Amino acid sequence: MDQAFPSDFDPRVARRQFPGLAEPGLHYLDNAATAQVPEAVLDALRRFEVEARGNVHGTPHRRSLAAQAAYDAARAAVAAYLNVAPREVVFTYGATSAINLVADSLADRLGPADRVVVSWLEHHSNLLPWQKLARRRGVRLGALPVTAEGRLDLARLGEVVRPDTRLVAVTHCSNVTGAETDVAAVVEAARAVGALVLLDGAQRAPHGPLDLPGLGADLYAFSGHKTYGPTGIGVLWGRSEVLDWLPPFMVGGQMIRSVTMDEASFADPPRRFEAGTPPIAGAVGLGAAADWALGLDWPAIRAHERRLTARAIAGLRALPGVRLLGPLDLERRGPVVSFVAEGVDSLGLCRRLDRDGFALRSGHHCAQPLHAVLGASSSARASFALYNEESEVDGLLLAVERALVELR
Ligand code: PLP
Repeated sequence: MDQAFPSDFDPRVARRQFPGLAEPGLHYLDNAATAQVPEAVLDALRRFEVEARGNVHGTPHRRSLAAQAAYDAARAAVAAYLNVAPREVVFTYGATSAINLVADSLADRLGPADRVVVSWLEHHSNLLPWQKLARRRGVRLGALPVTAEGRLDLARLGEVVRPDTRLVAVTHCSNVTGAETDVAAVVEAARAVGALVLLDGAQRAPHGPLDLPGLGADLYAFSGHKTYGPTGIGVLWGRSEVLDWLPPFMVGGQMIRSVTMDEASFADPPRRFEAGTPPIAGAVGLGAAADWALGLDWPAIRAHERRLTARAIAGLRALPGVRLLGPLDLERRGPVVSFVAEGVDSLGLCRRLDRDGFALRSGHHCAQPLHAVLGASSSARASFALYNEESEVDGLLLAVERALVELR
């Protein structure tokens, strides 16, 4: 047992709050793709749909006012989870839409004299929007390399983050290697050349409340469905000055100050970035997830998730012909464990594991360049959430061992 952290968190108690885990024989280990939702979120969604469903377009009838109040409360809850002001929280449709929002918006601000720096560790969601910006506007694209163990190679920051860099957009935690970014080092390098920092927080946000101002970045994106909330909702946080400076991405209803037949002027953030009817129920569900999460003992949960990760790493390493794609040390590491089994394709392996009830992800996990640089075309990935138990990790290790004998 890890004595450095409290261990009074009981995943069996947490599990009971998740109706989706009641299915007998299911060991849900694909949390980095989508986590299950607690009863608190399901209750909030039902309450909203029954008691407060309406639009948030500012009409003074009771249902519109109730919907607006629920939407505002959700924004406040998410802001509390991030330790930021509600006006800095933009609701999007997911992490992908949050990053696309920034990249599209920056098309009006950046050109051929400017550089955006990403890394080899990125999910395609934090790579393709920048490739598109580079194609559309001639913006230069740089990429920070990764180390052999799948961490950002921070020693190369000075060389990659050049004086023409306007934005450094990197992951906060890799969805393949689990490596967590040393944000302070990235922020320091970016600040030295006057660049902004965007963090893709899709894999960090589910693992406890954040202090975004303390982190020092300027923009932060994550998805609701990985953070115990509904699908179809995400968040873009931006420092006030940065959001004020960004032009809108999508345009249409609900985000304007005034419109003539020739032109429009736009509302202040966050509304400027929420064109059309927003995903109101999704926001309400994510707000409920944030409220629920704020009541949990995160040091104990992180210690628990770390124990699961350590157990999985140790067990997988001991299997013949199995290679882990990520750091073996647990410092700055999320509960994501990807591995390649020599002679066995990850799709076949994950299909076989599903027959034993273990839900893992196979493939390149939307990170093809990373897999290429780590010398793998695909991998199997187990990713843990607070409701997973050590016995599930032990069961997985036995199931992998059996499957490898069968499939080789
Ligand atoms: N970034 C990372 C690191 C991810 O793991 C994911 C999803 O797997 C995304 C971005 C995209 O999230 P979404 O598909 O919810 O937009």
